[in-house]
Amino acid sequence: MFPQPPEVDRVLRDAAAELAVAAGAEEVVAALDRAVTRLTPVGASHELRIRLPEDSAGSGDHRPGEGEPVALLPIEASTPAAGPVGILLVDRDTAARTALRPALEAMSAQAALAMERIRLTAEVSRYRSFREVEALMEQTHDVVLIIDGDGRIRYASPSAGNVFGTSALRHARLLDFLDSVQRPAAEFLLRHVRAGGADRGEGRADWTIQALDGRTPVVEVTCRELRPGDASRDVALTLHDVTAQRRLEHDLTARMFHDSLTGLPNRVLFAERTEHAVAADIGPTAVLLVDLDDFGSVNDGFGHVVGDEVLRQVSRRLSDLIGERGVVARFGGDEFAALVQDADTVADVEHTAVRLCRSLSLPIRTSGGTVVACRASVGVATTLHAGSAHELLRNANQALRAAKSDGGGKWHRYEPSTTDQMRHAQLRADLGRAVGEGALFLEYQPIVALGTGRTVGFEALLRWQHPTYGRLPPGEFIEIAEDTGLIVPIGEWVLATAMRAADRWHAGAQVRAPYVSVNVSAHQFRSDDFVDSFARLLTATGLPAHRVVLEITESLLLRDDDKVWHALELLRAKGARVAIDDFGTGYSALGYLRQIPLDIVKLDRLFVRGLATSRRQRDLVEGIVTLTRALNLDVVAEGIETERERQASAATGCTYGQGYLFARPMSETDTLTWLAAEQDV
Ligand code: C2E
Ligand code: MG
Ligand code: MG
Repeated sequence: MFPQPPEVDRVLRDAAAELAVAAGAEEVVAALDRAVTRLTPVGASHELRIRLPEDSAGSGDHRPGEGEPVALLPIEASTPAAGPVGILLVDRDTAARTALRPALEAMSAQAALAMERIRLTAEVSRYRSFREVEALMEQTHDVVLIIDGDGRIRYASPSAGNVFGTSALRHARLLDFLDSVQRPAAEFLLRHVRAGGADRGEGRADWTIQALDGRTPVVEVTCRELRPGDASRDVALTLHDVTAQRRLEHDLTARMFHDSLTGLPNRVLFAERTEHAVAADIGPTAVLLVDLDDFGSVNDGFGHVVGDEVLRQVSRRLSDLIGERGVVARFGGDEFAALVQDADTVADVEHTAVRLCRSLSLPIRTSGGTVVACRASVGVATTLHAGSAHELLRNANQALRAAKSDGGGKWHRYEPSTTDQMRHAQLRADLGRAVGEGALFLEYQPIVALGTGRTVGFEALLRWQHPTYGRLPPGEFIEIAEDTGLIVPIGEWVLATAMRAADRWHAGAQVRAPYVSVNVSAHQFRSDDFVDSFARLLTATGLPAHRVVLEITESLLLRDDDKVWHALELLRAKGARVAIDDFGTGYSALGYLRQIPLDIVKLDRLFVRGLATSRRQRDLVEGIVTLTRALNLDVVAEGIETERERQASAATGCTYGQGYLFARPMSETDTLTWLAAEQDV
């Protein structure tokens, strides 16, 4: 049964009303479909195909074949050039109903109009946002690009010429401006963004642009899908010129790890190389620590210019002798170190020590003709008696002290003392029981705002009251805890105890309750339960997560460990903050900070120490702090011992500080008194 004219009119009116407000192609199709269904008898077939604006070869091109029992009603757009936006296919019976045909045609025309309105609205809003972006871009140096699915530039903001060395960018291929090394990663990034990427279709990277005028500016690129879900696959990119910033980072990183006088690696870089060598475990690794005997008298007698030249010549002699076999470093003052990696035997290492002593005992002639007699003491340690780089360096130090007290000009090898070994074995045996017996306890050291002196947090520091050896600092047993795996239960106890303490500070300090900063070891991070156990502690203590800071060391971050990174992200998602501890003592390039999920940087004491006296150190720290703060990270200067160091830290831009000047680590009870006293001021 076909509907009668009054019903046809009603259907037409309803369809017109729905089509007039349809917001997208799907709604147009649905409205048309409903109307045609009402106009045709039950069981009659019809089919609707709407070509969406972004379909290049859409269904609108469909032409029914010879024998197909359908009739065709094109849904024509009012601008004929645009072609039909779709077709309506109905069966022959329906098509034969001449009374229905005008109604179907009328609806098709309305659908076409609706489609055109939708297309125009999208166009206008795109145009409007383009204008706004353009207006904005004229005021900034950032470059905005829009590239199409083929990677060609569809739009470039006015400042693009400065970066690319040309303003003729339309239709150029963006990736042609990158060298072949960067291109695969850039292609990957764009694909990732178009696929809706992990971070909601956003991506970031640093690119070095090969500009047409020969320059190679470095830009920080942020890209995202222009219209998420849109089939056009356009990508919008913002390019921020960071050339100067990256150069500074690079320069600062180099300065952080090299000695300016000799150009040799410094202590930090040396420690890192030693760690690598020990981990690589190919044959014995040796460290030779070299100390010039009585160098003070050279400086006093001949002046600093001669002293400096002597140090440079010593560095050359050492480098010549060690050559490709290892690394030579200057630790500062008249202290040098050599790492020998591929020694065949320990005897081979000792032979090197003999040659070092001999070479450094030859007089040094400066360019000004001064001849300086010289001698050096050398301490030798090998992996024969050390399992870690840390131990290796400590042993070499002990050997050097022995060589010095033996009158100088000699070398000594490290001899393990039996008492040390026994003590170590004893601690190892006792540590397991220490937690259960309540022999471990925490102290808390205030972290203060350098500007106001107000306490913003406390760092929890672990101690062990040993029945025989008395009170032990963490340096004596953390390594054992890590070796034995005991660090996991111990760390859990530390976190729980510290969080409970932090909860008590709330009562004393009210609104501005200090946070607690807890040192977390790599082993804890890798244990499967760490994030969950932290979440359980939050619930149990009721402490807001933002009042917990987890301190991790650089070496933990540097191992590209997905598990650790994932854990960090989860912890931050819960609201806890993450601090990188002892920053500057691991070999991390500053640029690395940009990638780590991080909130606070704790600048190692090593940097603070020279602040008050060395202009160079001040410049270095200032650079580091500036970059760190540009990343929105807070900086805590560690180990501030004097008022001058406090002032210098504040002057270089550090916001917070910690150190004996403010307070030594104290008991939990004392923290409450400390906070109460602060409230009274
Ligand atoms: P850290 O995290 O860098 O802690 C700061 C250390 O510097 C503490 O040593 C503190 O007492 C000391 N310190 C603070 N102010 C000054 C100052 O002005 N001058 C000097 N010279 N030193 C200052 P402590 O307590 O011996 O801790 C040593 C390290 O042991 C800590 O270094 C941390 O890495 C580790 N540690 C401490 N507690 C724990 C813990 O619960 N778990 C883990 N995994 N490690 C811990
Ligand atoms: Mg710490
Ligand atoms: Mg520290």
